[in-house]
Amino acid sequence: MLQANWGDTLFTLQKGDITQVETQAVVNAANSRLAGGGGVDGAIHRAAGPELMAECREIGGCPTGQAVITGAGCMKALKVIHTVGPIYRGSPKDAELLADCYVNSLERARENGLATVAFPSISTGAYGYPLDQAALVALSAVRDYLMAHAGVFKEIKMVLFDQTALDAYQRALDEL
Ligand code: ADP
Repeated sequence: MLQANWGDTLFTLQKGDITQVETQAVVNAANSRLAGGGGVDGAIHRAAGPELMAECREIGGCPTGQAVITGAGCMKALKVIHTVGPIYRGSPKDAELLADCYVNSLERARENGLATVAFPSISTGAYGYPLDQAALVALSAVRDYLMAHAGVFKEIKMVLFDQTALDAYQRALDEL
């Protein structure tokens, strides 16, 4: 399955580069110093330009599981929501913090009246969270949030960078 309807919001899975997606808000898998880096964080900063780093510097940082919002520099999106995923340790706290990332990002989007949001697969790159486990945590957190906030969002997209990630999220969506 590549899509679902949760609380009147269309939820979709797609393969691609999140910087190229049509959306009002792009979620960034940032680090706690909001210092930029590799992976999706690097791609978003490259696409947005130096304005984004200047805004991040002003905010200064973000604790794991929390989310902060900035402009989107020269990207087409209106806003970037920076959330900090947990570094996978194999403790029960991991799933809690990863779910918090999705919930707090959706909270920032809702507060700012953003109707469409694109998420990358948080924590499954440099932070080492196993893809299948991360996919289940991500999808159940988003589903529960959308069910509890019916009609707030038009569309939430998960943008997966490669086929392996897309397959894992598709399996998780079938399992939910
Ligand atoms: P983290 O530090 O949270 O693990 P990473 O950026 O290292 O973050 O990886 C998170 C996920 O983002 C990985 O699955 C990676 O393949 C993916 N990714 C990397 N670049 C992009 C991009 N341009 N668009 C969407 N996803 C991306």
